[in-house]
Amino acid sequence: RIVAPQSASPNEESIERALRPKALNEYIGQHRVREQLEIFIAAARNRNEALDHVLLFGPPGLGKTTLAHIIAHEMGVQLRQTSGPVLERAGDLAALLTNLEKNDVLFIDEIHRLSPVVEEILYPALEDFQIDIMIGEGPAARSVKIDLQPFTLVGATTRAGMLTNPLRDRFGIVSRLEFYSAEDLTHIVTRSAHLLNAETTPDGATEIARRSRGTPRIANRLLRRVRDYAEVKANGRIDTDVAGAALAMLEVDPQGLDLMDRKLLEAIIHKFDGGPVGVDSLAAAIGEERDTIEDVIEPFLIQQGFLQRTPRGRIATQSTWRHLGLAPRGPTHG
Ligand code: ADP
Repeated sequence: RIVAPQSASPNEESIERALRPKALNEYIGQHRVREQLEIFIAAARNRNEALDHVLLFGPPGLGKTTLAHIIAHEMGVQLRQTSGPVLERAGDLAALLTNLEKNDVLFIDEIHRLSPVVEEILYPALEDFQIDIMIGEGPAARSVKIDLQPFTLVGATTRAGMLTNPLRDRFGIVSRLEFYSAEDLTHIVTRSAHLLNAETTPDGATEIARRSRGTPRIANRLLRRVRDYAEVKANGRIDTDVAGAALAMLEVDPQGLDLMDRKLLEAIIHKFDGGPVGVDSLAAAIGEERDTIEDVIEPFLIQQGFLQRTPRGRIATQSTWRHLGLAPRGPTHG
């Protein structure tokens, strides 16, 4: 999937790192989150304390990892990065925690996927900057308390509802990232184009921004593909026409929906008569994982009013029928 919001390859990741804003004042959009963090970071710095633990949630590609790096940068500390599924044993987390220096940031991506044993270690670490570890086995085994340096946990997750309550309660700062406006994404595309030495007209940048599913990672990826197209098919300059033609070739439609989005909406309409349909049936019908549907595909479709999530299942809206060039159905639906 060309516009999948996850990063695809190591090469892709290195480009992403290069495009990542480093300081809070370079971070575009998300004004509410930015303003809050600015205040909390300044206060923690003045007191020479670690920033309170931060939970960031929102769909992939909206800038959670970027913010974690920015928090460490603004606090003037190191960042250590790991992810929920990577931390298999309690010892993996203990090793990371005991290596942290004063006020460092520990970033755990996909924090909802921590195993219960690892989560247990985390609670006293978050609350008292202490961990209990078992040494030895059998009757000789004993538990040892180790003091940690004060640190900040930054956790990222696609859905806050997937965290256990005791874990969620231990975050002092909880921030939800929203999809970006076309205006903010235009800034991001323009900034990235500058860093990549790609020539865009303001309208060309806006065309890419409008069709990026509200997501900076997708905007940056489409920019690179459109640049390829511009270099080969045009004179290298990205204007509205070039962007439009390249995006049509990538099968990204004028609303920014891609093949997977349309496949999902078409399945609801043609296979399930517009819904309601349960997410598992939908997953089977389009051959996609349930998690991908819930975390990646649906949030944007719901935000754009193409899909409704009801207790009985997913329903296509009038906009969906119109968007797919079909006559809208009766008023009882959507
Ligand atoms: P997430 O961790 O939420 O999946 P990332 O932090 O990896 O998302 O962001 C993906 C890419 O999008 C980054 O490489 C960065 O270049 C870009 N990006 C994200 N948020 C912003 C922003 N607010 N301003 C500018 N670029 C951004």
